[in-house]
Amino acid sequence: MDESLGRLWANNATDDEIAEAMGKPASAVKARVSRLRLGSRDRAVSGVPTADGKVCWTPSDDKELLRLRRQGLSARWIGVEMGRTPGSVRSRLLKIDYQRPSTAPRDHTSRRCMRCTAVFRSEGIGNRLCYMCTGYAEQARSQYD
Ligand SMILES: [Zn+2]
Repeated sequence: MDESLGRLWANNATDDEIAEAMGKPASAVKARVSRLRLGSRDRAVSGVPTADGKVCWTPSDDKELLRLRRQGLSARWIGVEMGRTPGSVRSRLLKIDYQRPSTAPRDHTSRRCMRCTAVFRSEGIGNRLCYMCTGYAEQARSQYD
């Protein structure tokens, strides 16, 4: 029971969803969760902010996020487009850049950043700076605008 409970929890299932999947009342699930000290969920259930204000990124959000970044938009403007804070956009981009999804698209290759030499997931031959360094480059450019 604890194993599947932990798995459902990690997948951000709601108390009710967990209760239903496990055939137990929600109150039993809540009690068990606090007993196991699973802590707060990593992310909110899609679209619903968690107590600490995070909003889950869905795969289609990620797609949109990367599309906007390819257009050269800064985190601030991506945030405006997507109704999120720049900080939320930045941390998500970092997560996408550095995580290793099991189903990485073929056109994403690991590349070494030309500026800081960190290995990051490049979106193509033209993408040679990691997200952090792209941000620095953006800032540097904007000083001359
Ligand atoms: Zn870099």
